[in-house]
Amino acid sequence: MPETNRQVLLKRRPNGMPVPEDFAIVDGPLPEPGEGQVLLRGIYLSLDPYMRGRISGQRSYAKPTEIGDVIEGRVVGQVMRSRHPGFREGDYAFGGYGWQTHSAVDGAALTKLDPAAAPISTALGILGMPGLTAYAGLKTIGEPKAGETVVVSAASGAVGAVAGQLAKREGCRVVGIAGGADKCRYVTDDLGFDACVDHHGDLSAAIDAACPKGIDVYFENVGGAVQRAVYPRLNDFGRMIMCGMIAEYNDVEPRPGPSLVAAVRKRLRIQGFIVSDHAALRPEYLAMAAPLVRSGALKYREHIVDGIDNAPGAFIGLLQGRNFGKLIIKLGDDPTK
Ligand code: NDP
Repeated sequence: MPETNRQVLLKRRPNGMPVPEDFAIVDGPLPEPGEGQVLLRGIYLSLDPYMRGRISGQRSYAKPTEIGDVIEGRVVGQVMRSRHPGFREGDYAFGGYGWQTHSAVDGAALTKLDPAAAPISTALGILGMPGLTAYAGLKTIGEPKAGETVVVSAASGAVGAVAGQLAKREGCRVVGIAGGADKCRYVTDDLGFDACVDHHGDLSAAIDAACPKGIDVYFENVGGAVQRAVYPRLNDFGRMIMCGMIAEYNDVEPRPGPSLVAAVRKRLRIQGFIVSDHAALRPEYLAMAAPLVRSGALKYREHIVDGIDNAPGAFIGLLQGRNFGKLIIKLGDDPTK
């Protein structure tokens, strides 16, 4: 039985791309499991892009890793000693206990794994958080329909590979974006995507060729240049699943324009619409609003400019903020007033 627990700690917050000096590797004693805990020997540690956010210290949906802390991470391991009735020595389990070889963890926070059901490492990938990410993003936001074109970035990765295969099963044309010929070959030949674009090449031309009918659903894993190439090619009523933007996680300076990383972190819903799509709501709106207008509960202001000759000037003023209220040109007498 090993005597030590090796841990990776956060030594300092990375500035831009992390470097080995941002981490410290230390050896400590094996932890003692308390009542209700088990001593777990790690077998597989999951490394995921979200960790870049955790070690940055910025406010987010989850607590950041503090300097000197063990870096957070999910692990599949084997029980060495158990003080929890649900686990026995030799059991395999999955849980979050960080970048370290051993841990004493609450049995209640662990999930037992059956190695006969699936390889235990899949609890960190396709049958774990990344697989669920792909499924949830498609189901709740993408809603792909047969015949639509779905583009998936980081297509050979943990999330992207699942997203594309699931969209394919819905009868979509699925186009991956990945870095390099080997990854692209894997995406088409092994995963069964219809096409794959190498983002190291001329992205715009390649996407146009792979998506002759435009893009209906974009599963966004990357951001940056890939997003800039995909975004203008989205079709009317397209859906963008804002899953992640790994290309921007190491930015030191903000990029020009609003950063859509916030859309991921804050679960923003950004959806365009054109009023004519909602003509069916007119009777409902008028039934609600007209009585409120009559009673004065819904207030309005009109900016009335006299004479058609003044229309051009008033219109130019509208674009410069010179109107104050609903701008209307009075063309002739109003006998109701
Ligand atoms: P992957 O297994 O896909 O690994 C990351 C991949 O991203 C790399 O292999 C690389 O693929 C690509 N990549 C990295 N840097 C760049 C860059 N500068 N430009 C273009 N591509 C780049 O990771 P995951 O599947 O675990 O995660 C994919 C995305 O999903 C991430 O953005 C992650 O943050 C997000 N995510 C979001 C979750 C959520 O709850 N919203 C949950 C899980 C993941 P290539 O060489 O093909 O470009």
